[in-house]
Amino acid sequence: EPHVAKFVYDFTEGNKDLKDLLGGKGANLAEMTNLGLPVPPGFTITTEACKVYLDSGEEPAALRDEVSAHLVALEEKMGKKLGQADNPLLVSVRSGAKFSMPGMMDTVLNIGLSDKSVKGLAEQAGDERFAWDSYRRLIQMFGKTVLGVEGDLFEDALEAAKAAKKVTVDTELEAADLKKLVTKFKKIVKTEAGRDFPQDPREQMDLAIKAVFDSWNGDRAKLYRRQERIPHDLGTAVNVCSMVFGNLGPDSGTGVAFTRDPASGHQGVYGDYLQNAQGEDVVAGIRNTVPLAELEQIDKKSYDQLMQIMETLENHYKDLCDIEFTIERGQLWMLQTRVGKRTAGAAFRIATQLVDQGLIDETEALQRVNGAQLAQLMFPKFDEDAKVEQVGRGIAASPGAAVGKAVFDSYTAVKWSRSGEKVILVRRETNPDDLDGMIAAEGILTSRGGKTSHAAVVARGMGKTCVCGAEELEVDTKRRRMTVPGGRVVEEGDLISIDGSSGKVYLGEVPVVPSPVVEYFEGRMHAGANDADELVEAVHRIMAFADRKRRLRVRANADNAEDALRARRFGAQGIGLCRTEHMFLGDRRELVEKLILADTDAEREESLKELLPLQKQDFVELFSAMDGLPVTVRLLDPPLHEFLPDITELSVRVALAESRKDPHENELRLLQAVHRLHEQNPMLGLRGVRLGLVIPGLFTMQVRAIAEAAAERKNAKGDPRAEIMIPLVGTVQELEIVREEADQVIAEVEAATGTQLKLAIGTMIELPRAALTAGQIAEAAEFFSFGTNDLTQTVWGFSRDDVEASFFTAYLEKGIFGVSPFETIDKDGVGSLVAAAVKAGRETRPDLKLGVCGEHGGDPESVHFFHEVGLDYVSCSPFRIPVARLEAGRAAT
Ligand code: ADP
Ligand code: MG
Ligand code: MG
Repeated sequence: EPHVAKFVYDFTEGNKDLKDLLGGKGANLAEMTNLGLPVPPGFTITTEACKVYLDSGEEPAALRDEVSAHLVALEEKMGKKLGQADNPLLVSVRSGAKFSMPGMMDTVLNIGLSDKSVKGLAEQAGDERFAWDSYRRLIQMFGKTVLGVEGDLFEDALEAAKAAKKVTVDTELEAADLKKLVTKFKKIVKTEAGRDFPQDPREQMDLAIKAVFDSWNGDRAKLYRRQERIPHDLGTAVNVCSMVFGNLGPDSGTGVAFTRDPASGHQGVYGDYLQNAQGEDVVAGIRNTVPLAELEQIDKKSYDQLMQIMETLENHYKDLCDIEFTIERGQLWMLQTRVGKRTAGAAFRIATQLVDQGLIDETEALQRVNGAQLAQLMFPKFDEDAKVEQVGRGIAASPGAAVGKAVFDSYTAVKWSRSGEKVILVRRETNPDDLDGMIAAEGILTSRGGKTSHAAVVARGMGKTCVCGAEELEVDTKRRRMTVPGGRVVEEGDLISIDGSSGKVYLGEVPVVPSPVVEYFEGRMHAGANDADELVEAVHRIMAFADRKRRLRVRANADNAEDALRARRFGAQGIGLCRTEHMFLGDRRELVEKLILADTDAEREESLKELLPLQKQDFVELFSAMDGLPVTVRLLDPPLHEFLPDITELSVRVALAESRKDPHENELRLLQAVHRLHEQNPMLGLRGVRLGLVIPGLFTMQVRAIAEAAAERKNAKGDPRAEIMIPLVGTVQELEIVREEADQVIAEVEAATGTQLKLAIGTMIELPRAALTAGQIAEAAEFFSFGTNDLTQTVWGFSRDDVEASFFTAYLEKGIFGVSPFETIDKDGVGSLVAAAVKAGRETRPDLKLGVCGEHGGDPESVHFFHEVGLDYVSCSPFRIPVARLEAGRAAT
């Protein structure tokens, strides 16, 4: 028997697991039908049919016949024919892809009405007004979404009809008014679309189906898919659903409901209801809705039935569901359900509530939350009880709550912040010239641009609060002011507050409250009875689930005892990256300068000798803070010029001194050194292991400091677990040389202190060559730590500081990548190098310890990748540790 493609499924044939084929809406309509819930009969045209249409430009030959067959079956079931003059069957045509997508065609209701059948409908319903209301809605929706007529033209005509009658709401228009409106609407269609509104019901249906297919490739839908990384070849399903009418009078209506509060997770009656209304009236705000609880008074029977159905759905989906329903003359109909969206806090609470109800287990609970939600809960927030004056709302581009004085240019931002002021940089949009100002500001506010605008991309990269595209704000950078709705003017220096999690903009200083979740991680808050405590309790329990499940260990990037202790409180199981360059700044800079300027071995050794005890003390503190846990210390990495004065500043100083005929010997030498060390491309220059190889004694001084500190801790009965990490290695020879010297120093210290230190020596893998020769490098390394920041830079040939500010916006907008490769690891490129290096390294040395210490270590999607390739740990900034723990747990389920 030849395989016959099946392009149409009756609602009785599908189920919720067929989202790929039937789309989300269709799969759930089928699921509800099969649960025995009251769903108006109908059928779903598959995404496969859509794909054929998109590929060939024509609907598959079999589709028309299949639709006809299903339509006949539907007509038989309903006892009336589509558009039948005396008793019309009406249907809605609804798009429904696997993921709901802005830009897809809106639903068209009341298909099947025509000049003839509108009269039949009136007669059947015994309600002329209703019939004409339904007809005018059809022409309006069909005209707008299928024929592409400007929607405002219909809206304006409706407004005009209301005004002529001196009424304010549509329900006050009578049959005669609506009849006139239908004539008007048809005229609009004729003029604008150049064709008559189709009177043939099947033609209406077919055109609507085709319009849904076509909307898959609309510009807005395409852009959305690129940004959200939704594949372009999924196609959309189309649902044809027999109409039920909420606009049949006061005993009819339409509503939306949640099975529990999407904000808190609490069980109860949440939703809105609107009497005598159809479709989206309830969310469109055309009339005031009533809270769902009032439905109990309006129609007790339907209310009770709805409550019963909500319980059935929760028990069935084992999750919060949202629902669309309609009541037609006392009869309840279910029109849609899906697992509902929720706030981050509610996600945690609902997951634990469902565990307590016995509906889901711990493993499933972990799938119900994610690291992004946890991260959101860890930002400080504006005090919800504070009196605020909101003046605008833009796109929540980078989370956080920032307060500061409004400044309108980068220069002022830098100047004011240097003198200790907190500022918010306000621009129409930002460009690379604003970078310094963005760094100096507490937050960034723009009136233009979306999630991929320069401001948004750069702020996210910096972890700085940003609201962009707040279009009601008129930013006048020339006059250094902005005008807010209502005409008030914010001058330079006026305080404003911006919420990067909600996009809201406020006048004045809104008080900021710390996150209860952070208070909990810091050990300053415990679960109790109030609302915040409930959240903390839920987070606490979910974290315990994650910790039980995860295989990946989580370490912190921390350079000092204070950060290390905080990391421990947040659950760090060690330090994966201690950057020693931070220990060379401040008042030690002079010693470093001396080291760099040293002409003779004696001079150099002297400065190293001075640095040694300081370094050692740093490590003693760090090792005691992390007693019993591994601490990976990276030897000096950055190019030396970073420790020297700025070249321009220094040149000016020297020139001035020379003009006074008083050149300062030391400054001249410094300037020479700066010139000598100046590099076109410092990122690819003298840094990392290369420094250790050309500056005698530098690395050995650091190794000695580590070893002596470890010995001191050991002799004090501590448990130091230091690991020495060599940065920027490209070939095993580099590592071997450094290693040999290090081993010797360690042996000396062991002998002198009578200790056995067992210091592991390993390397960063952050150059493509290191990854490609990982098998050789593992001969000399006891551990690898993937430095995915530099590895991303070197694999892509991107200088991060340059590219994020210059062309990432364009790349994101063109969809070249959906997210910056510095934010989420590029699995195909950088990731495949990591995977290959893991494999080669372990082949050489089966017990090779493997970790990652780039910023990706705290990024949810990347953590899953690192779990999959078999790393032992991820290391990230202390603040990201809970997120990494959670995601590591989720990855292991
Ligand atoms: P969306 O995806 O935008 O929610 P829907 O297809 O769910 O679009 O439809 C829009 C509105 O029309 C919803 O309120 C829905 O409940 C209503 N609706 C859709 N089909 C029917 C129908 N057959 N009878 C009555 N109302 C319907
Ligand atoms: Mg809609
Ligand atoms: Mg809907």
